[in-house]
Amino acid sequence: QRLVLAVDGPSGSGKSSVSRRVARVLGLGVLDTGAMYRAVTCAALDRGLDLADADAVAALARAAQLEQSLDPERESVVIDGTDVTTAIREPRVSAAVSAVATNLAVREELVARQRAVAASGGVVIEGRDITTVVAPDAPVRILLTADEGARVARRARELHGTADAQALAATQDLVVLRDARDSTVAAFTTAAEGVVEIDTSALGFDEVVQAVLDVVVA
Ligand code: C5P
Repeated sequence: QRLVLAVDGPSGSGKSSVSRRVARVLGLGVLDTGAMYRAVTCAALDRGLDLADADAVAALARAAQLEQSLDPERESVVIDGTDVTTAIREPRVSAAVSAVATNLAVREELVARQRAVAASGGVVIEGRDITTVVAPDAPVRILLTADEGARVARRARELHGTADAQALAATQDLVVLRDARDSTVAAFTTAAEGVVEIDTSALGFDEVVQAVLDVVVA
């Protein structure tokens, strides 16, 4: 079947891991669109481009050969022959990605590629603007939200393996800063018309997965 699930959410909402699991359960592919912005950021940094040079970064994005595994069991991102699967998660990339994601020409290019994946169907697409821009006609559209405390705690566990006071303090600014930067491109904190919002603050991973699956069968 050619089902398309559009899933949006801010950093720390759990959307990547939840989308991956939902795709696995439903036998669908998964497209992590944040990984695409991260891959372009990685390539731009590796080439020593000035990220404020919008034309240069856009040219890189348009010319880039981006190969991304849609298999939920196998995460793999290769840009222009370089495997960046691990590098895209490095803090230097997280810190720089908003500068690339606010480049409108880059967005235009990546959104076009994401729409092509949506058109083939059979996929969960997750990001910031999927329910509104990339796949506004998807039969299932979900916004995962979580209060700031819950998102900081999740990120702290991802980055430091714990959510103790020190890890929380080290993570707080990262989450708040990226939210502030991202809010200039996507208003992902309120659900668009027809989008089902799931507040994940008080839910465990399996409960969020189940809540998403409930929307699919509803
Ligand atoms: O989801 P993730 O944290 O990997 O996304 C990395 C960055 O990519 C976000 O902080 C945001 O700036 C950008 N992004 C975006 N639109 C999307 C997905 C991600 O602008 N659809």
